Amino acid sequence: MSCKVLYGKPVSEHIKSELKLKIDELSNIGIIPKLSVILIGDNPASKIYVNSKHKTFVNMNCKSDIYNLDKNVSEEEIIKLINSLNSNPEVHGILIQLPAPDHLNEENIIRAINPSKDVDGLHPINLGKLFQGKPSFIPCTPYGCLKILEYYEVETVSKNIVIIGRSNLVGKPLFGLLSQKFQIGNATVTLCHSRTKNIDFFTKEADIIIAAVGVPKLVKSNMIKDNCILIDVGINRINDDSKKGYHIVGDIDFDSVQKKASAVTPVPGGVGVMTVTMLLYNTINSIKV
Ligand code: NAP
Repeated sequence: MSCKVLYGKPVSEHIKSELKLKIDELSNIGIIPKLSVILIGDNPASKIYVNSKHKTFVNMNCKSDIYNLDKNVSEEEIIKLINSLNSNPEVHGILIQLPAPDHLNEENIIRAINPSKDVDGLHPINLGKLFQGKPSFIPCTPYGCLKILEYYEVETVSKNIVIIGRSNLVGKPLFGLLSQKFQIGNATVTLCHSRTKNIDFFTKEADIIIAAVGVPKLVKSNMIKDNCILIDVGINRINDDSKKGYHIVGDIDFDSVQKKASAVTPVPGGVGVMTVTMLLYNTINSIKV
């Protein structure tokens, strides 16, 4: 059985080529899309993600400001900064790089963002609209998963989809989206998590599995049925003797599932590529002219 590898790059390039036309149109009327990113503290992984977002925006002739705040910054100071970005007409999108340090209440901070600039789609108003089937901003990683399914023409209608992981960032929005009466949706969706008994019972019935867990190679070939399609959101660092000192693996055992699956996204090179692209997409689509 041959298993297709669903790379994120061609999907991302396809979307970026359409966005480029929009960016040029906006530039002709004097508008440069701008994202403001708030990075709190010095988490090395967060810095890498923020720099990659910045590079993508700049390469696409958009603007990106990074506010790198001290790890001990108070909630009041962050909310003051968010208020000033909310009222700045040159800022189209505001993103808080998560996780925030423990002394901060992430919910309060996200709630301070004007929902019309919440390009990460995590404000309760935007998540509420998503669950009503009328999304404004779809969170970037779940949106990236949908775009991969759409680009590779993976049928979701009437399929059994199992999502593993119930975070507000990935698992829950995906559950909300794939169960809607959308073209990429109309599926019967099961949401598994750390308290699910016998995950195999559900995954063995799944036509599509989406893993967003943070456990390296959790999903193996003995947990899936023939011809299953797998989307791997996980990004897990495994220390090794290489020059870099680590390599990245997903939540799906890529080599093992290929014996049975009909398609699988790689890690790296799959969903991860899509997240920044969908952030750009949301920022550009937040501009109403
Ligand atoms: P998270 O907030 O830590 O949530 C993990 C979820 O997995 C939780 O719902 C947890 O269950 C569940 N879980 C943990 N261990 C489990 C197990 N053994 N069996 C079944 N379920 C289990 O993580 P997240 O933010 O959603 O991220 C998940 C993964 O995706 C991470 O590797 C992260 O780095 C990656 N990620 C990638 C991107 C990207 O751009 N590709 C973006 C975001 C995240 P409980 O709710 O019961 O605790």
